[in-house]
Amino acid sequence: MTATDERSHLIAPVGGVGGPTLPQERRLVTEVPGPRSRALAARRASAVASGVGSVLPVYVETAGGGVIVDVDGNSLIDLSSGIAVVSVGNAAPAVVDGVQRQAAAFTHTCFMVAPYEGYVQVCEALAEVTPGDHAKKSALFNSGAEAVENAVKIARSATGRDAVVAFDHAYHGRTNLTMAMTAKTMPYKQGFGPFAGEVYRAPMSYPFRERSPITGAEAAARAIDVIDKQVGGGNVACVVIEPVQGEGGFVVPAEGFLPTLAEWCRSRGVVLVADEIQTGFCRTGAWFACEHEGVVPDLVTMAKGLAGGLPLAAVTGRAELMDAPHAGGLGGTYGGNPVACAAALGSIETMQKLDLAESARRIEQQMVPRLRELAGRYPAIGDVRGRGAMIAVELVRPGTTEPDAALTGAVSAACHAAGVVTLTCGTYGNVLRFLPPLVIPEHLLDDALDVLEEAFATCAR
Ligand SMILES: *Cc1c(COP(=O)(O)O)cnc(C)c1O
Repeated sequence: MTATDERSHLIAPVGGVGGPTLPQERRLVTEVPGPRSRALAARRASAVASGVGSVLPVYVETAGGGVIVDVDGNSLIDLSSGIAVVSVGNAAPAVVDGVQRQAAAFTHTCFMVAPYEGYVQVCEALAEVTPGDHAKKSALFNSGAEAVENAVKIARSATGRDAVVAFDHAYHGRTNLTMAMTAKTMPYKQGFGPFAGEVYRAPMSYPFRERSPITGAEAAARAIDVIDKQVGGGNVACVVIEPVQGEGGFVVPAEGFLPTLAEWCRSRGVVLVADEIQTGFCRTGAWFACEHEGVVPDLVTMAKGLAGGLPLAAVTGRAELMDAPHAGGLGGTYGGNPVACAAALGSIETMQKLDLAESARRIEQQMVPRLRELAGRYPAIGDVRGRGAMIAVELVRPGTTEPDAALTGAVSAACHAAGVVTLTCGTYGNVLRFLPPLVIPEHLLDDALDVLEEAFATCAR
């Protein structure tokens, strides 16, 4: 079977389910946005708080596999996966099936009131798929930010220390503690302080933006020096790091950075938390991005790719750390909701059965050569980077590293108008990122890359 065949059969029609039967094609039948989307935008303007933004100008009617169909009947190619969430494809059959069956049985009891098997099953599955063969336990929550908050609670409880170390360009969420841990002020923090205390920031390894080439081990030594001098290793409860940064610009640290940092954490009794909320669940071509460098974190935070679109998050880690907080110290009304757990089991099963880590590696092989070729023609593309199906291009003024956020926005808008859903990111707003569903058919991804090429032809010099 060819790669196309393997990826295409996933979205073959299944009885009674709407999403996955959708034709896997880009099809524009109106201008984008069309009249129905424009009418909804007008209603939204008077009903929805303007602090809540949207990337796309269209409103969604249905979605399946690698396409999103809007209320005007336009079929758009999805290179966002709802920010790395629907990696198994939108409305994936096993997710829909699990959700329907669970919703018909019971929708909520609260695991802290009356527990159920689905929660336990998800925790068993997480112990299996996360890095390391040590004894592991898990706790389930609703959002990524909540998972990060709880990882910090667990690390503080286990170590009896206060300090939390995060990195330049980091993104960990929008709650008070995770805002403090997030690096970028606009739009995440501006006007929302004061922020939680005892959060310290260390320099990241960002190869494209180093003044002179430095190895991963040297970049780690630079970070460790800052931590030692400004915080003191013995005061640090946890170091929290995204093994490939997400919102910060798909920054892949230089090889050796993560292992050196992990070794330092081990030697100082510091809990290493890998925030795999964006990188997890096959996205980077491995189940978790830490695996690319053989790093075994003490705690892993997960959310986005976990449950095929249902809100579910988790902290999984060393059993003795996870058991540090007193009984009743962790939890929440909705954490580990049974319908979300059923979705997660369907999503994890899909990833295992279809080997979606391998699909992510094939997507990298399909995308990176074309993006490098494009970079050869457009010097505004300063860097092509990423792992698996988490790939980005960083746009700059040709011949410099000076960010070009305007061009990034223009290229992205041109893609939207032509029916391809792209996202931007980066501390400087100058990174175009691509997060296709891992089940995207090869022909659809090729078509999306053609559109991207046309967008550069129109917008770039
Ligand atoms: C999205 C994200 C979060 C926050 O997750 P939410 O579910 O939006 O709260 C935290 N860390 C990383 C790395 C993320 O990508």
